[in-house]
Amino acid sequence: KDTPAPRPKRVILAAPRGYCAGVDRAVIAVEKALTNFGAPVYVRKQIVHNIHVVSTLEKKGAIFVDDVAEVPEGAHVVFSAHGVSPAVVQGAKDRNLQAIDATCPLVTKVHREATRFARDDYQILLVGHAGHEEVEGTMGHAPERTTLVNSPADVATIEVDNRDRLVWLSQTTLSVDETMETVRLLRERFPTLQDPPSDDICYATQNRQVAIKKVAEEAELVIVVGSANSSNTVRLVDVALENGARAAHRVDYASEIQQEWLDGVSTIGVTSGASVPEVLVQQVLDDLADAGFADVSTVVTAEEDLMFSLPKELRTDAQGNP
Ligand code: SF4
Repeated sequence: KDTPAPRPKRVILAAPRGYCAGVDRAVIAVEKALTNFGAPVYVRKQIVHNIHVVSTLEKKGAIFVDDVAEVPEGAHVVFSAHGVSPAVVQGAKDRNLQAIDATCPLVTKVHREATRFARDDYQILLVGHAGHEEVEGTMGHAPERTTLVNSPADVATIEVDNRDRLVWLSQTTLSVDETMETVRLLRERFPTLQDPPSDDICYATQNRQVAIKKVAEEAELVIVVGSANSSNTVRLVDVALENGARAAHRVDYASEIQQEWLDGVSTIGVTSGASVPEVLVQQVLDDLADAGFADVSTVVTAEEDLMFSLPKELRTDAQGNP
């Protein structure tokens, strides 16, 4: 009996992938701050959750700190794309720091919602991951009124004060499907629960999940480029596994790809998180080509053209020129 011909090896690249408008703006903000004000420029937390981006900016003179208390009095400090609580803004003022706020405008939108609902005496059920910087920043806008819902399993045990004034908000980088399941369970317990005025899970997170779902239908293996602390990156691994991929792995760099992942695989899907520069994806494609996966096609599920203007502190150069 003839042995069947081996199936052709190919790569399907998801689009959209990689940098979103908020990450692009935050990285440019640090670069422009270095140009305008000179090194060092301090950055509170990782400007975006990607180790390559952080180490590249470090080489250019950025110093990453965990707390504004570590920044010398009067120095420039950039707040990361994930946003900060009012207490952090105050802490920077107390030290006379020159703050540059690179919070993504889509995170700021959630902060405003939290502030407004708290003022109107709502209890906010915030769907998000405990300990994530964005969650800490959002909770800090309504600390007395916010209850964190970490997972669908949390729903059974959370306590509310007034069932008639309940709203859910969310972190911007969650799995859409898991969040909808959490909200369904919340609404089962609290039928009067109100929805946010608009989607809190941002366009970039949603678009990258839709694209990888489509790719995972055909790919046996999915490789997601991005860092371990990047929420939207890790969600792409989950979404790929839930939508048809037999295996899905996250890598920071192409060198982390293991030969045994490729054994017996004919179609590999590739995507990247919202904080990942395209050069890292290109290195993955180059290594896969060397391993016989040179045929690359792209599945496009959305076009993105959103851009945000720079933080206001950076819209002029050091001399005040636009
Ligand atoms: Fe903004 Fe979404 Fe990008 Fe986060 S992932 S920086 S919320 S656009």
